Amino acid sequence: MEGFNPRLLKEEPPPPFAVQCQKCELSNHRERVIWGEGNPSAKIFILLDNPGMREDAEGNPFVCGTRETLQRGILDAGMELDNVYISYLLKCRPKRAYNKPLARDACFSHFQHQLAEKNPRLLLGLGNTVVETLFPHSDADVKSLRGRWHIFEDIPVAFSYHPLAIRRRPVLHKYFIEDLKLLAQEALKYGLIEN
Ligand code: SF4
Repeated sequence: MEGFNPRLLKEEPPPPFAVQCQKCELSNHRERVIWGEGNPSAKIFILLDNPGMREDAEGNPFVCGTRETLQRGILDAGMELDNVYISYLLKCRPKRAYNKPLARDACFSHFQHQLAEKNPRLLLGLGNTVVETLFPHSDADVKSLRGRWHIFEDIPVAFSYHPLAIRRRPVLHKYFIEDLKLLAQEALKYGLIEN
């Protein structure tokens, strides 16, 4: 896309009960809880594993590769950045090794709180970690689930590859765009985006 400039989407502040969350060891890694970003009222909820850096080492605003690839994909699929809210299974950015299952279990109630509060009409999960967390008792992965709709807690959910996987394996890019277009088509049907 010519002239594409990724931007740092506005961060939604965490609710008071989560600002000082100590439910897992990532409370010792973080600078702050990253509750989510984008349009907090959007009915399209995109879920990733954990937040990347939003500031560089000097503290200047920084758009990471994940955000850049995701934003470009959203626009290429015919949506606007304002159409989506983006959040994470883990609300704290890991900086070193940690117990992943424990952290994901601990943080899941925050995601469920967001679903109850925001009542999204459509979910898009990016990456196998999200698949495994939403459907823990299956052998499913992105490859086996992508391209069609599923249901998680009564909400339609689709899946695609993690933006970092797209950057590492450009051969996946066409599937990523197909999946974002599937999301856009459904969003159009629900009246969540304009034609
Ligand atoms: S990752 Fe989630 S559960 Fe763990 S400390 Fe951060 S907000 Fe709390």
